[in-house]
This record gives sequence, C-alpha cells and structure tokens, in this order.
Amino acid sequence: MNMNPFAVQGNWYRGNLHTHTTNSDGRYSPQSTVDVYAQAGYDFLALADHGRLTNPADLDHRGMVLVPAAELNGGRGELGQSFHLLCLGMRREPERVETPSAQEALDYARSVAELVFVAHPYWSSHTPKDLMAFDGYDGIEVFNTTCQRGIGRGYSEPHWDDLLARGRILPAIAVDDAHFGYWDFGGGWIMLRAPQLDLDSVMAALKAGHYYATQGPEIKDVAVVDGWVKVVCSPARTVAMVVPAPGRGWTTDRVRRGKDESPMTEAYVPLSEARGGVFRIEVIDEHGRRAWTNPMKAS
Ligand SMILES: [Zn+2]
Ligand SMILES: [Zn+2]
Repeated sequence: MNMNPFAVQGNWYRGNLHTHTTNSDGRYSPQSTVDVYAQAGYDFLALADHGRLTNPADLDHRGMVLVPAAELNGGRGELGQSFHLLCLGMRREPERVETPSAQEALDYARSVAELVFVAHPYWSSHTPKDLMAFDGYDGIEVFNTTCQRGIGRGYSEPHWDDLLARGRILPAIAVDDAHFGYWDFGGGWIMLRAPQLDLDSVMAALKAGHYYATQGPEIKDVAVVDGWVKVVCSPARTVAMVVPAPGRGWTTDRVRRGKDESPMTEAYVPLSEARGGVFRIEVIDEHGRRAWTNPMKAS
C-alpha cells in the first residue's frame, strides 16, 4: 500500500477521530462537542464513545463530516491493561460481547466497523509482544492528547517503530480523545487528503492512508529527488527521517551544528539512510510540536 498523500490529488482536510461525549464519560453533550470542533475549523470528527455508537444522524453536523465511531475494549496486554480499540465507520450499534483475548476483541470490532486502530498504546502499557500477538488492525495512535495532558503518556512512537521494524507497515494517527474534564482539546489531529469532503471520500482516504498526523506543523510535500527525500513544511526546527532499524536514520540537527538555528521550510534527507527499507518523516517546530508522515518505502 502506498500511504503517500503527497502523491495524490485532492484537498487537505483537518480532523479528529477520537472524542467522547456524555454518551460515555465525556463532559460535553454530543451536539456541544460537534459545535466546539466545528467552531475551531475542523472538517471531520468522530465521536467515539465507550461501548456505544453516538449516531451522527441525530446531530447537526455544522458543516463537518461526522464519522460513525465507538471505542471498544477487550483482551488484556501482558501488563494487565485491556486493549482500547478505536472503531471508525461503524456499521451498527455494538453489542455487549465478552472478548477475553485481544484477537477476539479485534475480530468483533472488525465485524462492526470498517477501520480499527489500537488506541493510546503507551497509556495502556502495551508491549511489542502485545501488539504483535494479534493481527488485522489498521494502525495505532502515535499521539493522544488526553493521555499526554492527563498523565504524561501520550506519545507512542516507539510502539509504532517496533511494529514497523517487525514488518507491520501500519499508519498512525494523532487524536485528542477529548473528554473535556480538563483541556484535552486541539492537541493532535490528522490532515487528510481527499478529492472532496463527504463521508465516503473521508473513509476512502483513511483506508488508503492518505494523511499525516500533526500537533501543528504542516507538511506540504515529501518527494524523492535524485536519491534525496525532499520535505517541504511550515517553519521547522528539525526534520528527521526515522528508520526503524538499529542505528539508522537521519536528522537535520546533525548537520546544522548550531551555526544556523533559523527555522527551515525545506529540507533534504538522504534516502540511502533507509537502506531500501521503510522510513517515516517527522517534523518538529520551534515549540516542540511534531508532525508525523505515515511510513514510506525507500524502494
Ligand atoms: Zn481509551
Ligand atoms: Zn477514548
């Protein structure tokens, strides 16, 4: 699968795929939650309440696409925490079913939803063994705002790279998982490239991996030019090629040597560092905010 949104035509749309409402443990009603995201300029949103579908048909969309969603639990990792599965494109209301293993939970989730992401692996203390023990999920959350602002465990980059290193070439999303008990809003989202803004186009682009995750930095283009990966972005402090192999990878910091600290909007990283394997690009701005492309193949 070519998960490269920069190689396809379309418009960029901003969306958050994981948020709760008063239908589970969120503080805002479904409509208030929709209103908050619409007012902030989001183009699509998923209300993913625990164990139930908050039906978009009951709501005023305020110009956004609402993706039918739910968060289902099941199985347990080796350190005891159950898996939280973010289900997108729900086909029907989920039943209360016992899913003792992660694979059973995932199989059930897949029977009711078009896409299933493993939510907040770091918050859940999931190990590489946990994530490799079941198969068939569509990606993971690389960043979860409420997990970061709540307990400081929002970043799941090592989990993602562990999967990539083991041949699971999966995309990752950044989300809020907002409950509004504290300010867990607007900390991470995805930029999705699709021909138009409707539910079918959003789901198709999600399935194709035509997006990148971000906390603010904009990635405008990633392209291979004469053995270099050219990255065009909003002003950045660091551009990194992350390669999930021991000692591999490259970052612009290693060549700047303190001489030029000015933000850059274009960077070249050597494709050879990926050694013909998988890499992903990470952009960090002057405030430490990150953006993550999906994995790409060097050859
Ligand atoms: Zn969760
Ligand atoms: Zn959640």
